[in-house]
Amino acid sequence: MRLYIMTDLEGVAGVRDFAEWTGPDKRYYDLARELLTEELNAAIDGFFAGGVDSILVADGHGPGALDITRLDPRVEMLRGWGSGWPLGLEDGSFDAIAWVGQHAKSRTPFSNMAHTQGCRYLELSINGTAIGEFGQLAMCATELGIRAIFAAGEEAFAAEAEALVPGVTTVVGKRGTKPGRGDECSEAQYRARNGGAIHRHPLVVREALRAGAKSAAERASDGPSGYVDLTPPYHCTVVYRETDCAPRQFGTRMHPDSISKLMNMPVNLQPVRDDAHLAELLVD
Ligand SMILES: [Zn+2]
Repeated sequence: MRLYIMTDLEGVAGVRDFAEWTGPDKRYYDLARELLTEELNAAIDGFFAGGVDSILVADGHGPGALDITRLDPRVEMLRGWGSGWPLGLEDGSFDAIAWVGQHAKSRTPFSNMAHTQGCRYLELSINGTAIGEFGQLAMCATELGIRAIFAAGEEAFAAEAEALVPGVTTVVGKRGTKPGRGDECSEAQYRARNGGAIHRHPLVVREALRAGAKSAAERASDGPSGYVDLTPPYHCTVVYRETDCAPRQFGTRMHPDSISKLMNMPVNLQPVRDDAHLAELLVD
């Protein structure tokens, strides 16, 4: 079995907020990178113990977050996207996909650092289902016949993954403490909004990751689980929050048969007229 692992930084236990943790100019960025890389190494160890033969790890955090000097030497690492979506899954070699350090989608209550791509997105939906970064890639994987077997990160993300891919193995490292959806927030307000969470100790999280990954790998060939229910054609609606230089905006795109091609299409943005119009655009 060949496995692709998507990684991100905001869902890692110990990582607190955007202000001081998630970019190269931030005080705790190096610590955040270490915490992610050690979570990932624990999962990698479990996957190999469970029967995975080879692994490609994708560095999914915008400015990059994996520390290659600490990374398990049995894996290869993908940095940067050659041709956009589906983010390196397209070479035909992968049987399964997993996520480590993932956060929930924009608008998720009790998420520590919920967002979709960036904090400008209010909602992204495909065929009436609101999805985040996990859902976009899980849908692309499904159309390539690649099974989503493992989803690790914050608690609200685990629930999101289980709802979209029933039976996926989840591991939780922290749980957000901020109620509400933050729909009233501008991009900057949303970025600053949800820095509260209860974190499990990194050593405890790594043990859970190792055990969960081993179990997910062992179960990977059981039954038809691991796929998103997809029905073409695909209609995508994006809704953006207000920013310092733009009002609330929305856009749509459609593709007759491919999620990956849909994700690579541009969106023509138009202003959201008013709150009633916004309510019509949102699906969740
Ligand atoms: Zn992300």
